Amino acid sequence: MLRWIDILTFAKYGNPEPLRRVEKTAPEWAAQLTPAQFRVLREHHTEPPYRNAYCRSYEPGCYECAGCHSPLFDSSTKYYAISGWPSFTQPVARQAISYHFDDTYNMQRVEVRCNGCGGHLGHVFPDGPAPAGLRYCINSESLVRVGEPAA
Ligand SMILES: [Zn+2]
Repeated sequence: MLRWIDILTFAKYGNPEPLRRVEKTAPEWAAQLTPAQFRVLREHHTEPPYRNAYCRSYEPGCYECAGCHSPLFDSSTKYYAISGWPSFTQPVARQAISYHFDDTYNMQRVEVRCNGCGGHLGHVFPDGPAPAGLRYCINSESLVRVGEPAA
């Protein structure tokens, strides 16, 4: 289980190696992604709160990166954070996500990116629920939910 000290350590000293790396040019990403996905993943935009696909969606499944389809979050770690964006307590694996200090907008935050393609996902904050206390605040446009096969 990742804790805030792990997040700060990754951001300061380096992130884990991803299982696979996907590199494309901006025109290649633009051809593959919707304009809204491109703005979030490749241009680090933030989508509007509440008016986004997964804010209040709790269907079971795995949330993959909308760019490279690396698994990022499981629906079992999703919770309602009253932020207006889908929120998770943990990623599916410690190497799934990379962490970067972000001091834009006069805020000190930790940006989270897909570790496979470098796509911007959102930010992580140390005000999540116990036991780990993490809140991954993620743009819906950076995610695609893949349903679990029926048991
Ligand atoms: Zn990705």
